[in-house]
Amino acid sequence: MSEATNATGTRPRRIRPESLSLISVGVALLIAGALLTSYQYFSLRNSLRSDLTVQARLIGDNVQAALTFEDVRAAQDLLSSLKSSDTVTSAVVFNRNGREFARFDREHVPPDGDSARPFSRSPPYQIERMQVEQEIVLGGAPVGRIRIVGSLDQAYFRLALFIGATLLTSVLSMVLAKLLISGMHRAVKQAEERLDYLAHFDPVTNLFNRHAFNERLDFATKRARRFGNRVALLLLDLDNFKTVNDTLGHQAGDTLLKSVADRLGQRLRKSDAICRLGGDEFAVILENIADAQQAASLGQAVVEVISAPFEISGRKVFVTASCGIGVFPDHAEAAKDLIRSADTAMYHAKDAGKNISAVFRPEMTAKADRRINIEGSLRAALETDQMELYFQPKVDFVNRCLNGAEALLRWHHPLHGDISPVEFIPVAEVSGLIGPLGKWVLQKACAQAAAWQRKGYPSVDISVNISVIQLKDPRFVDIVADALAAAGLPARHLELELTESMLMEDVEANLGVMKRLRALGVQISIDDFGTGYSSMSYLKRFPITTLKIDRSFVSDLPNDRENAAITEAIIALAHALDLKTVAEGVETQAQAQELSEAGCDYLQGYLFSEPLPADAFIAWWKSSGLSTPNSDRSVAA
Ligand code: C2E
Ligand code: CA
Ligand code: CA
Repeated sequence: MSEATNATGTRPRRIRPESLSLISVGVALLIAGALLTSYQYFSLRNSLRSDLTVQARLIGDNVQAALTFEDVRAAQDLLSSLKSSDTVTSAVVFNRNGREFARFDREHVPPDGDSARPFSRSPPYQIERMQVEQEIVLGGAPVGRIRIVGSLDQAYFRLALFIGATLLTSVLSMVLAKLLISGMHRAVKQAEERLDYLAHFDPVTNLFNRHAFNERLDFATKRARRFGNRVALLLLDLDNFKTVNDTLGHQAGDTLLKSVADRLGQRLRKSDAICRLGGDEFAVILENIADAQQAASLGQAVVEVISAPFEISGRKVFVTASCGIGVFPDHAEAAKDLIRSADTAMYHAKDAGKNISAVFRPEMTAKADRRINIEGSLRAALETDQMELYFQPKVDFVNRCLNGAEALLRWHHPLHGDISPVEFIPVAEVSGLIGPLGKWVLQKACAQAAAWQRKGYPSVDISVNISVIQLKDPRFVDIVADALAAAGLPARHLELELTESMLMEDVEANLGVMKRLRALGVQISIDDFGTGYSSMSYLKRFPITTLKIDRSFVSDLPNDRENAAITEAIIALAHALDLKTVAEGVETQAQAQELSEAGCDYLQGYLFSEPLPADAFIAWWKSSGLSTPNSDRSVAA
């Protein structure tokens, strides 16, 4: 209510700018018209006056003789020549004594059939007359006078025509100006509407953008506070959007985002504000919800609706979403805190394996804080010797022989105690520290394997886990080659463990890197096999040497027949492709028995040993009674 009101309380009517400019155009035209009309009026009068003067002089010059000889008839004839002039209404010639000598009066002249001329008819409609009088002089002496009277009717008629034309032009100009101005106004309004749209909507999905999201969330939380309601915020992040974008192109990526938006719109209520915050992040504001439980089931429904396959340019595309849920006022005091709570819950959902929704819990904040803490102390960890490599054996169960060891990273944190790699590797990946950390692991693992060989222990192959970030580093192959060279370890004794999902992220680029690694002589195994894409066509193209069957298939053996069948199929497939198989997470004798019978080449797990520090690993091996591939004798005492 910023507009001023007058004393009576009514708001004064504002004149719109375009009306104002129309009014000024009108006034200008009116003034110009009036000036031109008066100019026209005076010049018409002047020309009538000079016309009458010329006529009077002509008659005067010719009537001298008739006056001298008092020939009234001749004078009368002369005057009747005025009949042809439209403007002259009467003329009188006076003699020397001032008496009327001859007269012409149009009003007494019968019409000559020229009735089309409006002012030659009698009686004429005379508005104003003009009179001119002149002396008739002969030889320097006055012989009489002539008086001639003209009508201004025709001048007025022309003036009327002129005014009509001027008015018509003015009105047409005004109409034109009005059309131009309103056209301009429409264009400005359209531009304003477009700008307003762009300020509040995402052009790809037609959903509210981040700006509109902030406004709406702010508004929703304020309203909920006033009426004592609950608002839930769902933050959604597509888990594998980048893969779609990279493999199918940005156009397909946009189509996918639009399809996700459509599905959200179909699943949710009209009153729920669906927003795209940018990239593959979406948000939904749910007003008037009963409790967190209701929000949780909506979150789950949203995740499910997205996980159904999409049809993008003739292809079936699978995406999943992770959803974090925060509820106001249960989890936050204001809009900003609500975003933070939902965000924390979303990261929790991602950590917990993706394709799920999670409602915020206060412990999650502690976890997020710990994450920040880890990131801060990770940098110092390498420099201050807090990192250590542990080794877990891979065993050829049938031949009772030690085949190799997997190097697994351990962080002995001075305050938090031992921190699992499951927790700190993802932090190292996002903070960029995985580069130096991964390089350190490679150097240490190669150096340890070479040192064991030098000490006379039989050679074991060493396996090192590689992060997707390391694989993307263009210097990666050189880093591996340098680590081998620095340790003096033959390349065939090093195996790199890569996961299926990381290989599928950029197939062509990874294929190139793998070929170069194989050219060095390094072995490559696919870790956690069976949990990722499992694309058989790619498996054939990748230059790999080993498949590691994921722990999840092993843990339920031998009771779970389905997992047993999958395990058997993986082993058969690997052998058909000339690959070795390793089963991880073997904890029981029965599992070892079942896997060996299925033809699994090597086993790894707590049944044999937990991951151990280097010295403890050798001690374990010495006491295990296992031989090595290169020696046919057991080292056990
Ligand atoms: P992973 O490559 O699947 O490693 C196997 C994990 O299973 C190890 O956990 C190991 O301790 C555990 N494990 C071994 N045997 C058994 C068993 O019988 N039962 C059960 N329940 N678990 C068993 P860990 O050492 O905590 O490592 C976890 C993950 O961290 C690894 O999974 C790997 O992905 C990653 N990681 C470890 N070290 C490194 C590293 O140096 N670099 C990179 N990039 N990642 C690493
Ligand atoms: Ca591994
Ligand atoms: Ca694994």
